Parts: sequence; structure tokens; C-alpha cells
Amino acid sequence: MKKLIKNVHVLTMDAEKTEYPNGYIMIADNMIDAVGGMEHAPDEKAVEEIVDGKQAIAMPGMVNTHTHIGMIPFRSLGDDYPDRLRRFLFPLEQECMTEELAYHSGKYAIAEMQLAGVTTFMDMYYFEDALAQATDEMGSRAILGETVIDFPTCDADTAHGGLDYAQSFIPKWLNHELITPAIAPHAPNTNSPEALKEAVRLSEQYQIPLTMHVAEMDYELDHFRDTLDMTSVEFLDSIGALSERLVAAHCIHLTDQDIDLLKKHHVKVAHCIGANTKSAKGVARISDLLDKQIPVGLGTDGPSSGNTLDLFTQMKLFANFHKTELKDRGAFPASEIVELATMGGARVLGMENQIGSLESGKKADIVLVETCSVNMFPLFDPYAALVYSANAGNVQDVFINGKRTVKDKVLMDRSIAELRQNLAEQMKEFTVKAKERL
Ligand SMILES: [Zn+2]
Repeated sequence: MKKLIKNVHVLTMDAEKTEYPNGYIMIADNMIDAVGGMEHAPDEKAVEEIVDGKQAIAMPGMVNTHTHIGMIPFRSLGDDYPDRLRRFLFPLEQECMTEELAYHSGKYAIAEMQLAGVTTFMDMYYFEDALAQATDEMGSRAILGETVIDFPTCDADTAHGGLDYAQSFIPKWLNHELITPAIAPHAPNTNSPEALKEAVRLSEQYQIPLTMHVAEMDYELDHFRDTLDMTSVEFLDSIGALSERLVAAHCIHLTDQDIDLLKKHHVKVAHCIGANTKSAKGVARISDLLDKQIPVGLGTDGPSSGNTLDLFTQMKLFANFHKTELKDRGAFPASEIVELATMGGARVLGMENQIGSLESGKKADIVLVETCSVNMFPLFDPYAALVYSANAGNVQDVFINGKRTVKDKVLMDRSIAELRQNLAEQMKEFTVKAKERL
């Protein structure tokens, strides 16, 4: 099945950042067949479907490298409490999170991401089998990691029960077209060294990604300094947990030696500027990481940490915080930030040969961002428009693996009202218990 997207300003995000200001993209089944200027567009008679982009910006589907899609119920709950994690998140997860609630939260979160142009994401949560089911039904591309933590959880009766859960979860989803299973130890300080080593072993056995919050918390660093006289990253190195399979989320507090270790072991970094600054934790040393060619992508973190699951918000916050941090207006020009949201994320997830740019032979994950809304005029630079002017509401059409999931700002095949209604139904007990804690 061939589809032609025409009349778009194509930002390919290939190595040369090739642009076609009046361009087309040809999709054949689930792949990009050709990209170029309209003067070379194929004969429309040879295609089954034509999409007139109406001068939209066509960009690669965005990649959210760190989130928790089961956590929609927590959004806007206790945002400004300093002890939010232990006052709301951990106890409410224990008391009220069920497989059904995680599943409906997952579908809602995926819908939110699709409407915002996020076509691929990496998740860490509980009940990942239900979240994989939700992802499969919604048709997004994802790496899904079951959480491992040192206390009983909503989906495991024993500490580190996620390791047992993963034993059946991983093989079940190993050969799915869009889903890659993963293992996700919560953090270096919330797991025993033995459990961390077992998670590493699983990722080696199945050749799957491992993802973990790393160097995020002050008390995480204090713990390793006081007990082992090490940093978190040095500790992970000492137990053999650093590898090219590790996607380390946050990495806010890094020493020069930590950065060298990440580089040496080809670790990738999911940078969550919105969550990190909202919680006053700090601004990670992204410029130093990129100087060492360490792959960096953008992440929203969960909907309770960053409140939105869209990368437009992250791109804007990235620009503001990093330019301020470096005291340099010219640092990180918009095209570099769009790269972090697309190709950078693809590299972090080890998918750079499949997604991240609009090139012949890659999967057809494509986003059209309209340019006719009030906030999009005038338009001198499409990269600057995406980073500084646009928001998720400007996403017009989305294609994932060649299939259109959003058409003219509306979900195809799904109703957001119905997804919300289903989630609200499941949230009744959660809502009562959550209000008791306020
Ligand atoms: Zn997180």
C-alpha cells in the first residue's frame, strides 16, 4: 500500500539535516520509500492514498526516552509537596494500583503521546504485560521495562518480584513488531546489588535494554558516598551494570569520572529537564555528555513528574534551562534540540537504523505539524518554530509504522472521550484514597 504525503516542509533530520521546503514523503507499507522536493514527486496515479500536508512541517516521529505510562492517575496530585514520592506515589501505588488501572492509564497516556507527535517511547512501570497489551492495541512503538524494587509492589508480593514477573513478560513480547520488552531496576539505591546483577543478567540473556533512574536523588548519592565512598555510577560500574544496553534516566549529578565511565561503557542517557527542574533537583551536564558523544535523548518522565507527555514542552524547557545554565544564548540552536527529540532519542533506544529520521528505508514514523494556527506565524525558521513557537496542539497528522494514528488533530479509530471515561471508571477508589492524603 503506497501513501503520498505532499506539500510539506520536510525536516529529514538525516546526518546533513537535509530539508525540502516544498517536499513530499512516499510511504510503502510500513517503510519510507522516498523523500524529496515536490518537483520530483511520484505520479499520484501510482499511489492508493494522498495526504495533502497543507504546508505543515514534516518531522520524524518524536522519541520519549523515559516515562511511566501507568501513572496518569497521579497527575496534578501533590505536585508541590517536598515528600511527594513517599507521601503519595509509593503508598498509593501499593494500595490502589491494579492491572486494569495501569492498562487504562497506559492507553490514555499513549493517546496523549500520539496526539503530541510522540511515536516511540520507553516505559518503566508495573504490570508491563498489561501496558504492552495497551501499546499493541494503540499501535505505538515502545520499549517496555518491568520495574524491579526492594519492596513488595502492586504487582509482586515479594521484594524484587519484578525479576520473576519479567521471566514470563520478556519472552512473551520478544518478537513483537513494535514492542521490545526490557528490564527496569528502579534505581541503584532501591535495589540490592544481587537484584541489580540479576537484572543485568536478564538483559544479557535476552539481549534486551535495561533502564534505571541513575544519579537522580541527593540521598542516592549520599548513600553510596557514605557506605562505599563511591558515586552511583562508580557503584554501577563495580557490579558490572554499565553497558551499551543501559538507558540511564536523569543522570543529574555526575562527576567528570562518571562521565568517562558512561562513555567507556557506551551507556545512553534519557534527559528529563522538565521533571528535574520542577522538582528542583538540578540541570544535568548535557553539553559535557554530548561533547563526549554520549547519546542523549529527551524524556518527559511520568505524568506526575513532568505533567505532560509531549516533547514540545521538553524542547522549550531544554532551551531555556541549558542556555541559562551555560549563559549563552547561542548554545543549543533549535536544530540541535529537534535532533535530541528525534534522532538523539532513537540512538538512546538503539533504534537509529530504524527510526529518528525521514530517510528511504526507515520505518514510516512521521509527524506533520501545522503552520496555520495563530502561534505559528510568521515562520522564518522551521526548527525554531518547533522548539520555541509550537506546542503539542499544533500536531496535525501522525503516522506510526506506516499507519495513520492521528488525522487532522483527532485520533483515528479511538475516541479520547471514551479512553478518558474508561480511565475515570477505574480511578474511583484511587481518587478517594488520594484525597485522604492531601
Ligand atoms: Zn522516572
